[in-house]
Amino acid sequence: KGTTLYNELANYMRGVLFPSGYVEVKTPLIYNKDLWETSGHWQHYRENMFLVEGADEGEQMALKAMNCPGHMLIFGSEVRSYRDLPIRLHEQTALHRNEASGVLSGLTRVRQFSQDDAHCFVTESQITEEVERLLRLVQRVYTDFGLQYAVKLSTRPEQFLGEVATWDHAEASLKQALDRAGQAYTINDGDGAFYGPKIDFDVTDAIGRKWQCATIQLDYQMPQRVDLKYVGADNAEHRPVVIHRAIFGSFERFM
Ligand code: ZN
Repeated sequence: KGTTLYNELANYMRGVLFPSGYVEVKTPLIYNKDLWETSGHWQHYRENMFLVEGADEGEQMALKAMNCPGHMLIFGSEVRSYRDLPIRLHEQTALHRNEASGVLSGLTRVRQFSQDDAHCFVTESQITEEVERLLRLVQRVYTDFGLQYAVKLSTRPEQFLGEVATWDHAEASLKQALDRAGQAYTINDGDGAFYGPKIDFDVTDAIGRKWQCATIQLDYQMPQRVDLKYVGADNAEHRPVVIHRAIFGSFERFM
């Protein structure tokens, strides 16, 4: 029964995303240490990843805990023009996180799960419009499922990467998108990720408990770490901005 529901959710989401300009991709489950170092996960997230020994002596690898690095590689595998953006990559393959056994709980916190994960690659000037589209997508999906939810905008934390001016611009873009989508929200001051501000969605379940499901996160750092570029109208190279986002969040938690 669970498998049937899972497949229905997966196909429902494909039906929502394909007409919205998303491409479904499938990336490997295991990557070598070099890529995880480039993405920063080796330094900041290694204790949450399952490490795997490669066949060569000293070769270290890890099961993917998130899809981001693979999607960055796909974007970087071709010359991209400003005309190609936004590029939206969607993936539903399994992720693994090495959570302590004490925090595992039913289907809401598990070691293997899947997300309706996607990364939208946009120009600086496309942020507001893309986030507005995402907010409307979340509204549509949660309305289809009859779910009540609350929205939080999390702003620059004390420990952050990048320039204050870039953060201010990013936060203003998110607020503008929230207003344009007619979305009520509260502000969680200083609760953003170290790489950018984010919008989180707390869904209320049948007995009133709140669960964080959807998330929309702006990221200026990973495109820089992986050295992503696109060619602008001025024929010069520019850095795209990445939006990490999931609407169900994890399928398991959403069920
Ligand atoms: Zn991501």
